Amino acid sequence: VKEIRLKSRPVGMPTRDNFETATVELRAPGPGEVQVKNLWMTVDPYMRGRMNDVKSYAPPFQLGKVMDGGAIGQVVASNDPSLKEGDLVQSGYGWREGYTAPANTVQKLDTKGLPVQAFLGVAGMPGLTAYAGLLRVAGLKDGDVVFVSGAAGAVGSLVCQIAKAKGHKVIGSAGGPEKVAFLKSIGVDHAIDYKAEKDLTAAVLAGAPEGIDVYFDNVGGAHLEAALNTARLFARFAICGMISIYNATEPPPGPRNLAQLIGKNIRMEGFIVSHHSDLLPKFVEDLSGWVKEGKVKWQETVFEGIDKAPDAFLGLFSGENTGKMLVKLA
Ligand code: NDP
Repeated sequence: VKEIRLKSRPVGMPTRDNFETATVELRAPGPGEVQVKNLWMTVDPYMRGRMNDVKSYAPPFQLGKVMDGGAIGQVVASNDPSLKEGDLVQSGYGWREGYTAPANTVQKLDTKGLPVQAFLGVAGMPGLTAYAGLLRVAGLKDGDVVFVSGAAGAVGSLVCQIAKAKGHKVIGSAGGPEKVAFLKSIGVDHAIDYKAEKDLTAAVLAGAPEGIDVYFDNVGGAHLEAALNTARLFARFAICGMISIYNATEPPPGPRNLAQLIGKNIRMEGFIVSHHSDLLPKFVEDLSGWVKEGKVKWQETVFEGIDKAPDAFLGLFSGENTGKMLVKLA
């Protein structure tokens, strides 16, 4: 089977040359092991940080070694009583077509009628990120006007729809006219094409003249400044990601208007989804309700084949995806 390895560490924007493909033989599963054929793998923005050799909440990828990340596969051979051939499993063994591993390092997946790949997106880690960030970290409450950046992505598009399902006014920002049309199709009240706007603060105010109460940040930079400029008293900012600076070679200063936190009594809080896994059962219950009621829809952008995995990953930084970016392996 083929796997993708980290060939070199990027400086600035990564390129295809930072990755290499290798072919490996899978051994038959020993006692307590399973062999799995991967069906889907995910590429996510946080993996950019793992390409650097720095200590962070996720360990760095190792040079010359296979990369890892979320994947969903099917058991093809089992030497453990907990799993049998044909079972669907979720694992951290992404960026490869298949693997042999201890059965206790993979989780059996009950799809509850959803497409399997939804568990890498709307019903998986990005979905829980949206839910925990909006409802717990930002503490969404009645009447809040919500501003979401990266609004057409996996996390952002669910944040928008949860806020709409709860009756809020939502301002969403994403790059390009197609994404604006997508945002309108999921009920966003005022959709901003940030690539066509010179003044983001004015663009937010055009949709929310009264100002915003919640900002869900996926992007950082100019979007964060616009959120500070348009925030009302006691606004809450859930700082989920800052993709606009992930490829910066020099960390940018600012935000220049951070002092607005004080006068406006803004609470700004960063978070990592893994610290909110206690919300998983409630999230799954709420999500399935919203899906049944037609209040949550999701979109995927799919690249086919392991050879395309680096392109899918790079595409996150040029906005090639609407909704979740995925790689279909089989
Ligand atoms: P997305 O599906 O949103 O994909 C990334 C999107 O970011 C692209 O489609 C692109 O959309 C946008 N983008 C890329 N570069 C820029 C830029 N320079 N300025 C503005 N927008 C840009 O990814 P996810 O939904 O998986 O992740 C969204 C954010 O949430 C990321 O910041 C990620 O790191 C973070 N995250 C945080 C987690 C946590 O636990 N805190 C967990 C999961 C994700 P466009 O065309 O609109 O530019």
